[in-house]
Formats: sequence, structure tokens, C-alpha cells
Amino acid sequence: MEQSRKIFIGGNWKSNGDLQFVKDHVAFLNSIAFDNEKCEVSVSPVFIHLPAVISSLDSRYIVSAQNVSLFDNGAYTGEISAKQLKDLGINWTLIGHSERRQYFGENEEVVGRKVKIALENGLNVIACIGEKLSDREAGHTVEVVSTQMKTLVSSIVDWSRVVIAYEPVWAIGTGVTATPQQAQEIHNEIRKILASSVSEDVANKVRIIYGGSVTEKNAEELIRQPDIDGFLVGGASLKSGFKTIIESYKFKNN
Ligand code: PEP
Repeated sequence: MEQSRKIFIGGNWKSNGDLQFVKDHVAFLNSIAFDNEKCEVSVSPVFIHLPAVISSLDSRYIVSAQNVSLFDNGAYTGEISAKQLKDLGINWTLIGHSERRQYFGENEEVVGRKVKIALENGLNVIACIGEKLSDREAGHTVEVVSTQMKTLVSSIVDWSRVVIAYEPVWAIGTGVTATPQQAQEIHNEIRKILASSVSEDVANKVRIIYGGSVTEKNAEELIRQPDIDGFLVGGASLKSGFKTIIESYKFKNN
């Protein structure tokens, strides 16, 4: 398939850091030179650090939330709505990260509803999908990813505001990365699902990024794969190697 997709590299800070980290890491990120025409870079700090990041991070970066409420504003103690994120100047959010699915009971129904409410309120979405180790070992990877894609397909109208993050759960935070071939195979499957269940045009345009123990050592080989359009990076996005990961966009043969 023809490729003209802009690389997207996201840093997921998870529940890490304090205000001193934010200050130091933002200064580090501001010092990185990258061509914003060729590569979009997002960072997702915890909610309470969003204002500090927005006010100090260079505008070349996207500041994204890690999660969004299932509900609109109202009597939902402890939740932060899509409207409140927009009000703060946040235009992106992660949804369906495997840690949300694993520790906070987010199932397909919840992920679908969150994607819908985020998009309806004007947010862009990084939608995370991926199989567990047991699924892969049982040979069910494509089946699991297809089910997760079905949720997305039935929840999304405007695909121009969506990035899909394929993150095999067994590779997240484990130091075990999918091989470039394993990742490419599933990215290609996801693109085929988009082509058959949405349109060829959407399949060609939607960015599918890989997540799971991406580091400065494996980023180049992964990004050279034709259907890998960038990364979602956890642990390594907190460290100086994130610079090399961002710079890997230069290896993409677009
Ligand atoms: C993630 O949090 O989405 C992730 C991929 O984590 P890590 O890079 O640490 O595996």
C-alpha cells in the first residue's frame, strides 16, 4: 500500500514522576531537534501534571491525557471528562491501554464508549489494542486483535482523529519486544481489517504505531517496517534514549 503517513511517536509516562521530573524532562524534550513536518510527538503525563507540561513544553509537542472519563461532567467522583480536558487545552488522549484493561476492568464495551465520548467532544484518540501472551501462544492473536478492531470500527466515524497503537501485552514493560516481522505482520492485518470494514482510503491513511519495550536500540529496525508508522513508548520515554527514538523517523522511507 502507498505510504504518506506522518510518523507519530508517543511517550506514555504512566503513573510516574513528580513536579521536579516534569521540569527536568520538559527541558530535555525542548532541547531535542526534530522535524515536526515529518514527525508528530506526543507525551502523556498524569492528569495533575498536565498544566505544568502544557505551560512549559515546546508547542511542537502534543500533550495528551492517558485516559478519559466514560461520562460527561457530573456526579462521577474522581473522574475527568473529555470536556474538562478540552477546556484545559488538551486535544489528545490514550484510550484502552492494556494497564487500564488489566487493572481497571476496561472491557471492549468501556473502550468503545470512551472512544466515542472522546471523539464527540473533539479529542483525538490513541486507541490501544493488543493480545496477551496466552492469546499469542494459543494462536489467537489475529482473532483478539480483530475483536478489538470491531469495537473501534463501530465506535469511530472520523478516522482522521485516530491513531491505533498495536501493543502486544506480553511486550509492554517486559523488555521483550515483538520482532519487526511479528509487529509488521499484525500491523498489516490491522490495515487489512480497516480496508475491509471501513475503506481502502482509511486503511491507507490511519497511523498504526507499535508499542512494547521500544528503546533506542530497536526503534530503527521497527520503524523501517512498511506498516509501522511510529511508536507508543512507556519506560524509554522517561529517559534520554527517547531522543534517539524520536529521531528514528529519519529512517522511514516515505
Ligand atoms: C506503554 O506503556 O504503552 C508501553 C509500550 O510501555 P513500554 O514501552 O515500557 O513497554
